Amino acid sequence: MDLIHKSHMGMVKYKQRGREVFFWPSVDAEIEQKVQNCQVCATVQKGQPQEPLNYKNFLRFPFSEIAANILGFQPQRFLITVDMYSTFIQVSKLNSLRSNCGD
Ligand SMILES: [Zn+2]
Repeated sequence: MDLIHKSHMGMVKYKQRGREVFFWPSVDAEIEQKVQNCQVCATVQKGQPQEPLNYKNFLRFPFSEIAANILGFQPQRFLITVDMYSTFIQVSKLNSLRSNCGD
């Protein structure tokens, strides 16, 4: 816990990181106690900027921003594309992973 608390990143980030690294039933309570008792966290937390608005509010039209990834379901591979504006999901079967496989 001391290792992931080194950066004094605040309660929320500390809990997120803690859940990635370890788990036991009272882990959240222990993290909360550690942050509440930390002078550095108390000092730094007051100066941290507010989280920016959700970037989806700035997307103006469909497919202005997409997320994509390749899903392997052996032996098939699929290109998963998500429109960040509408969250529409498109799945395309890939015949190959070469750049010219769209034919
Ligand atoms: Zn701290």
